[in-house]
Amino acid sequence: MKLKILQLGEPVLRQRAKELTREEIISSKIQDLIQLMQDTMYDAPGVGLAAPQIGLALQLAVIEDRSQYMQNFTAAQLTERERSSVAFHVIINPEIIRRSNEQVEFFEGCLSITPFTGLVPRNLVITVTCLNERAEPVTIEARGWYARILQHEIDHLHGTLCIDHVRPRSFMTIENYMKYWKEKPIAEVINLL
Ligand code: ZN
Repeated sequence: MKLKILQLGEPVLRQRAKELTREEIISSKIQDLIQLMQDTMYDAPGVGLAAPQIGLALQLAVIEDRSQYMQNFTAAQLTERERSSVAFHVIINPEIIRRSNEQVEFFEGCLSITPFTGLVPRNLVITVTCLNERAEPVTIEARGWYARILQHEIDHLHGTLCIDHVRPRSFMTIENYMKYWKEKPIAEVINLL
């Protein structure tokens, strides 16, 4: 079963989501929700899904970057993005406690802003504290694409969308991104835009 993913303009996408208590996290209601969100993320398909995207203002997101998604990229593109597979996991009440000064810019999309993409600068390395699906505290050190996914999903829990950070002039349809820009190095894209 899958849930409907809400699109840009839904007020819930702009709210600050509510933190979950330990009791709420281990409740069957939230455990069932996590399963539904996982199924919905796979179906989309996407590498992350935050609860506000399915209409619930809760500090909860699911993440998984599957190896099959890497097939659309060359080895050079994966290296440039520092992208490799990330196992399924859940982040609850997350907080970014450290960010590198270094930022990197790549095209980024969102299941709530389809079918568009744009260049979004993100911190290369971050440290996140959160709870997992068993309400246990977890510290995550992430870099590269995984750090980007975490920043994207945590933004959702604060009512922020990737278009709020998008490089002006780089917002475009995914179709045109594939047609004109996908193969170009980012520095060249920025130059041409
Ligand atoms: Zn998103």
